[in-house]
Amino acid sequence: MTDTPSGAPVVTRIAPSPTGYMHIGTARTALFNWLFARHHGGRFLLRIEDTDRARSTDEATQAIFRGMTWLGLDWDGDAVSQFARADRHAEVAQAMLAEGKAYKCFATQQEIAAYREAARAEGRSTLYRSAWRDADPATFPDAPFAIRVKAPQEGNTVIHDAVQGDVTIRNSELDDMICLRSDGTPTYMLAVVVDDHDMGVTHAIRGDDHLTNAARQQMIYDAMGWQVPVWAHIPLIHGPDGKKLSKRHGALGVEEYQDMGFPAAAMRNYLARLGWSHGDDEFFTDAQACEWFDLGGIGKSPARLDMKKLENLSGQHMAACDDAALTAEIETYLAAADLPALSQAQKDGLERAMYCLKDRARTFPQLLEKAHFILASRPFEPDEKSAGSLDAVSRGILTELTPQLQTATWNRDTLEQVVTQVAEANDTKLGKVAQPLRAALAGRTVSPSVFDMMLVIGREETNLRLKDATDA
Ligand code: GLU
Repeated sequence: MTDTPSGAPVVTRIAPSPTGYMHIGTARTALFNWLFARHHGGRFLLRIEDTDRARSTDEATQAIFRGMTWLGLDWDGDAVSQFARADRHAEVAQAMLAEGKAYKCFATQQEIAAYREAARAEGRSTLYRSAWRDADPATFPDAPFAIRVKAPQEGNTVIHDAVQGDVTIRNSELDDMICLRSDGTPTYMLAVVVDDHDMGVTHAIRGDDHLTNAARQQMIYDAMGWQVPVWAHIPLIHGPDGKKLSKRHGALGVEEYQDMGFPAAAMRNYLARLGWSHGDDEFFTDAQACEWFDLGGIGKSPARLDMKKLENLSGQHMAACDDAALTAEIETYLAAADLPALSQAQKDGLERAMYCLKDRARTFPQLLEKAHFILASRPFEPDEKSAGSLDAVSRGILTELTPQLQTATWNRDTLEQVVTQVAEANDTKLGKVAQPLRAALAGRTVSPSVFDMMLVIGREETNLRLKDATDA
């Protein structure tokens, strides 16, 4: 199912409606389309479905651009505005009319409402059947009209879906849908088909809430004699309880995940696993995902949101990331979250310390908390928890340690030896020395090991911090 029907290069698209924030489900759909296109060396396009003027906002469009950019889902060419193509949509409606595939319907809102009312009262289907479908043009009034597509009235429409298999819809359930309203504006259903056709979309990978739309959209493809794309309707994301995803399950907006401090690479890995699998692989790189992605790996049942799994992958991606790249990503995170930017010295320090920061943190805030020892400048107030380990006895031990650190060779083995010897001399465990030492060096209970901190900040700074702590 991965080959295009015509053998043309693969073209996919994400077509979000800009009516709010960028939903995590939209991000997942975008990622699947992006991976599929990149896997096949094809093109991945972005179309903003802003036809609904009452609901579309520029702010929501910007949120989509920001979300896509943060996630690194680069699209080919310029984003297309659906609204800007309204003339072309109308042209196609007129073409269907000219070909006799569509007809003018002069029914007013009131007449349609009355039809439905009567159908309901009589227990008939409320699907509107316009009397204008077979009317004689000689009877046409001089009044506004909508253009309706002639739906097939018998038989079935089959959607050949790469994920769902063949889905059959009875044509008796399809109405002659409007494609051009009486005010001349195109409907969403028409716009999607015309745009997908004109943009050369070969594969429409989207949420399965659009499955029934596919049957109606296929009518337009057939009426125009256009090639139907390969459909791939993916199950929607559910909450951990298996119910439809909602606010009470957690964050829905892509930007909320960015603000929580997840690296984009981890987010991509996690979103890929929400509904798609490649054997037992959980942790993978973009290159691997691009190489492996196929429609056959998409599951038929809804994936469940799992924050633990995201955190887990996030930790693994940070640990695997190059130090300079991770530092740069943290700078982007700080800017996006409206937090103070790093000074050059802080940035250098962070990069130097990165090797001992990135291994256990699962989010950027966790990493930054651990980085307090390198980001803060002395003298700093130990927080309450770490201040507790700086009692008189501990301070005495640190005072004893200070001159030894002044002469020790500055490498891990020697530093470990020195601290161990001081512990032994005081008849106590290494931890009993490490705790106040950590308080002196970091002012926090969360930090890298005392040895890593000493190695990163150097002898001089270590001694100054010990002095601050013992003088206090
Ligand atoms: N605009 C639709 C949405 O945001 C997508 C339509 C499509 O993918 O065909 O759900």
